[in-house]
Amino acid sequence: MTKPTKYVYAFAEGGRDMAALLGGKGAGLAEMTRIGLPVPPGFIVTTDACKVYLATGQEPPELGVEAAQALAGLERAMGRTLGAPDDPLLVSVRSGARFSMPGMMDTILDIGLNDESVTGLAKASGQERFAWDSYRRLIQMFGHTVMGVDGDLFEQAIATHTAHDHDLGIAELAHLTEEFKDIIRRETGEDFPQEPADQLSRAIRAVFDSWNTERARVYRHREHIPDDLGTAVNVQAMVFGNLGPDSGTGVAFTRDPATGERGVYGDYLPDAQGEDVVAGVRDALPLSELRTLDPRAYVELGDHLRTLENHYRDLCDVEFTVERGKLWVLQTRVGKRTAEAAFRIAHDLREEHTITADEALVRVDGAELTRLMFPRFDVRTTDRPLAHGVPASPGAAVGAVIFDSAEAVRRAAAGEQVVLVRRETTPDDLPGMIAAQAVLTSRGGKTSHAAVVARGMGKVCVCGAEELAVDTAARRFTTPSGAVVREGDVVSVDGTAGTVHLGALPLTASDVGRALETGAATDTLTEAVLGALAHADSVRRLEVRANADTPEDAVRARALGAQGIGLCRTEHMFLGERRQLVEAMILARDDAARGRALDALLPLQRADFTAILEAMDGLPVTIRLIDPPLHEFLPDRTDLAVRLARTGHPDPHDRELLAAVERMHEQNPMLGLRGVRLGLAVPGLMAMQVRAIAEAATQRLRDGGSPRAEIMIPLVGTVEELRLARAEAELVLGEVENETGTPLQCPIGTMIELPRAALTAGRIAEAADFFSFGTNDLTQTTWGLSRDDAEASFFPLYIDKGVFSVSPFETIDREGVGRLVELGVEAGRAVNPRLETGVCGEHGGDPDSIHFFHRAGLDYVSCSPFRIPAARLEAGRAAL
Ligand code: PEP
Ligand code: MG
Repeated sequence: MTKPTKYVYAFAEGGRDMAALLGGKGAGLAEMTRIGLPVPPGFIVTTDACKVYLATGQEPPELGVEAAQALAGLERAMGRTLGAPDDPLLVSVRSGARFSMPGMMDTILDIGLNDESVTGLAKASGQERFAWDSYRRLIQMFGHTVMGVDGDLFEQAIATHTAHDHDLGIAELAHLTEEFKDIIRRETGEDFPQEPADQLSRAIRAVFDSWNTERARVYRHREHIPDDLGTAVNVQAMVFGNLGPDSGTGVAFTRDPATGERGVYGDYLPDAQGEDVVAGVRDALPLSELRTLDPRAYVELGDHLRTLENHYRDLCDVEFTVERGKLWVLQTRVGKRTAEAAFRIAHDLREEHTITADEALVRVDGAELTRLMFPRFDVRTTDRPLAHGVPASPGAAVGAVIFDSAEAVRRAAAGEQVVLVRRETTPDDLPGMIAAQAVLTSRGGKTSHAAVVARGMGKVCVCGAEELAVDTAARRFTTPSGAVVREGDVVSVDGTAGTVHLGALPLTASDVGRALETGAATDTLTEAVLGALAHADSVRRLEVRANADTPEDAVRARALGAQGIGLCRTEHMFLGERRQLVEAMILARDDAARGRALDALLPLQRADFTAILEAMDGLPVTIRLIDPPLHEFLPDRTDLAVRLARTGHPDPHDRELLAAVERMHEQNPMLGLRGVRLGLAVPGLMAMQVRAIAEAATQRLRDGGSPRAEIMIPLVGTVEELRLARAEAELVLGEVENETGTPLQCPIGTMIELPRAALTAGRIAEAADFFSFGTNDLTQTTWGLSRDDAEASFFPLYIDKGVFSVSPFETIDREGVGRLVELGVEAGRAVNPRLETGVCGEHGGDPDSIHFFHRAGLDYVSCSPFRIPAARLEAGRAAL
């Protein structure tokens, strides 16, 4: 990193484009200051300073002086001095990373209070109780967050006075501050620092440190936020929403972040500090109540929200405080939203001519679209809910009720679907929220921790279900009607309706899923989704094909917009009743016996291909010849041996079968007799499949169709293998043409799924009409990682240690496997400019990988049918 020119910026010096340096919150504060909104003044310590601190354990030497200068500027602007004994300036110190990490890092409020300035604040505010309460909050927050004292010790001290901290009187609060100071001294051997500047610099350092807390790291890994970005620190003059009934604090959105509906939306909590809203500790009022409580502030807030939405041209949310009738805006950002809201807002903003169609497309993504395709509970159900709450994050989920985060993680790891139930969640519940299908709380509104975090993760959430009496110690909740739900009981959570039901409710298809198949919009959401897809289709270069191997899948894929089949796996056609025939083929002692088995398979395969070609009439259908090792079609070796041992006189067929299983056993079957090797080693197998394809295509032509079958050879490592396979396939195609008198167009290509194939792609292209990158095997063989085992064994550890941020089987490893794809495309095209290239591994449906394949110049991606709409959308986004 080159040395930055400075580490501290006043709000007035920054702007919205500086989020990498000033963090999202800092950039927003700077921008609002610049456009004239009422923001309490302050300054920002940059992420660069944090990076130096994280790398060296020390702040940059210049930071002290720069922060002191910025503080002096702030004091001049406010006409008050930090922690001055008479009328003290107090500041908040908050984290603010480039990407929002709600509630994951530390905040310290009321910096500047000490034994003297607390009386100054009491006098200046005219509220002695407020001053002492602020002081005890500071000592408590500072003691825990900065000095590392166990937070429970403070809570226990409060509990000896009262059950509720807001019942504490002035004398009790003053007494409590002394007790808190004693706790700190006892636990740390240090006094609570009385020097305001000392408080400030230690608070800044604590925010830097909070970048690396366990919960922040877990959150970053979950959200794929890099670990090395660091956080900025915002130091801002305090304003108070807890100075009486003419004060308050709230959160507001320029549109509804759950549904996308137009109109201001939010929560307001009179006579409260900002943190109380986000923590969901007290239940907030709907924002509309502010209109009655303080019409002037309400109108002014509405003006600011409009200004912000026009300025950012997107949904914005703000945190605001009213201090004795004066409105202050404390934070803004482009607001998080549900998938439904994302599509509706992008669509509406485009209709309002605020953004272009291209911009609207960038505002939505494939993961959101996939989420909208998930089923919902059947709304016709007559089931009466156990409870109603706030519909905080939509969708439907069923699972066993669990009352703590660790247990939720344990059960989910064991494969159980769980619903995390808490009175309210805190950042410590994050692992359980990730593990759960849904989150249910009995307290807090749409902006509570549970709601914000669940929405960000796309997880179903109902919060504030107040009818539920949640007893986490007894591991149960009860409802007013007397129902008792214990840990392990199954409930259904409807995040769209905000209801909770006992038992597993039936699910029904989503409207979006249906609209995608029919192409007809039924409401504003489906209209928005179809509109975005239509635009994506008009701008994308990549084609989208399907991985499908049944006529039903082919029909479904086509309805969802597939432009052909990129991978038709034929081995699935060898299962079920046909297994007997395959077994006979494997056990055949001579060519004649094998021939009989293959002859019996031929009409069945032909019928399969005819039906699939019909479903995809006019579109390419890439049929891959059989790939997996043949022993997969035989019984398990141990099972068979046990069965034989149990029978006194095993029948000869079983003995023969066991001998064959043992003969074909391989230590490493994925690297064994499979793919093209199998086609070359088992006489007649490849010929049978090619004949079935050729005869099916001929049949379709005779029926007036336009079949576009393509033959794909798997697991080729050298051009010699492909030449041999191609020669055999061409021979059979020629035979069928001669027999039927019908000429056939049937391109022959190969999968590139071994590193050697990618590295020698120039040679292989001499014998190929197309390449299809099999990135599942290519990832397996490039990394030397078993695709069947690795993800379940050490991947969680690797992700935790930062070796990968995501599994390379899920998202293409651009540097390694991706590089091989690029090399393969380049070398193949150099030899055969008409070579068609695509990808048919799982990566073909992964949003991030699709952007890579677009840039690598592939012609198409192929993925499972339900991923097709998201792939179309992402291919469009990649082209912008
Ligand atoms: C691949 O390896 O990427 C591929 C598509 O083939 P399969 O998954 O069938 O091995
Ligand atoms: Mg493969």
